[in-house]
Amino acid sequence: MKALVYHGPRDLRYEEVVTPEPKVGEVLVKVRAVSICGSDLSGYKGGSAMRVPPLIMGHEFSGEIAALGKDVAGVRVGQRVVVVTNLYCGICQDCKDGLQNVCDNRYIIGTTMKAGSYNGAMADYVIAPAEKIMALPDNVSFNECALVEPLSISLRATKHIGTLTGKTIAVFGAGPIGLMGIMCLKAFGAARIIAVDVLDNRLEMARQCGATDGVSSKGDVVSEIRKLTGGLGVDVVFDAAGVAATVNTGIEIVRNGGTIMLVGMATPVMEIEYKHAVVKELKLLTSYMYTTEMREGLQMIIDSKLDVKRMISSVLPMSDGPRIFEELASGNSSEIKVILTNG
Ligand SMILES: [Zn+2]
Ligand SMILES: [Zn+2]
Repeated sequence: MKALVYHGPRDLRYEEVVTPEPKVGEVLVKVRAVSICGSDLSGYKGGSAMRVPPLIMGHEFSGEIAALGKDVAGVRVGQRVVVVTNLYCGICQDCKDGLQNVCDNRYIIGTTMKAGSYNGAMADYVIAPAEKIMALPDNVSFNECALVEPLSISLRATKHIGTLTGKTIAVFGAGPIGLMGIMCLKAFGAARIIAVDVLDNRLEMARQCGATDGVSSKGDVVSEIRKLTGGLGVDVVFDAAGVAATVNTGIEIVRNGGTIMLVGMATPVMEIEYKHAVVKELKLLTSYMYTTEMREGLQMIIDSKLDVKRMISSVLPMSDGPRIFEELASGNSSEIKVILTNG
């Protein structure tokens, strides 16, 4: 089969590899759509311990079941599916406590974890455990269902915030996680959503996704948000960027006793206005990956509660992978979400 193989920093090749065979309890999935994630990009640039070459990346995908391994029941060849990509162990204390998202023994399809590497969906075919299969109804497309995985990240973060009805929220970073966050916040009853980003096309997309206001981070974000909120500030900050500037602006602009949800991870170590956060008695929350949220997010798409496909900016053949990765890595791209497909 053909695959996009990551060989090292800025070295991605579309080449012939051996087609994997499903073992006991596994299925072979013909990949129909795979989305490029920011984490794949940082892997491509050589900045991620979770992408060790040689590796086939791709953890946001949909496809059709092409073959079954031994002892597989409940799924059939030809079925349209999405795969839950977190392959947790199920027996450690974290898993028992419902924290399968931080299981130390887990594999994640398309990444390298402590347990090892697991080839992903930037290929003609990918192997998945049968128990991770979610069947797709006919009313949803392969392309939109490739976005169920990133949607689950935004959905979990939104759920962690708590009651959103009537609240005013600032969302920092209108990339895919921020945009899907806006959709989830709106679906959960937020009254006012102020998107903040440096790129105008992303602010425009944020409005299409349900933001009531857009603030350019090229200007004075704090005074703009104060103006929009009658001097009050916001009830909640949803930080999908995760850099010192957004975290500290969030601490400044959130109301006393307010909540900051940290889901962006652009900076591993940063200096924050710690004392300011304490004396405002802020709730600093974090959210990581998903547990049950891929199933819940897929159901929201099936029920037309949100429309994730509007943020797909390009659909390209898999063979275009090396070119588009380089373009995205250049930092001068206006793409929002790129989907790769097999013809
Ligand atoms: Zn991702
Ligand atoms: Zn575990």
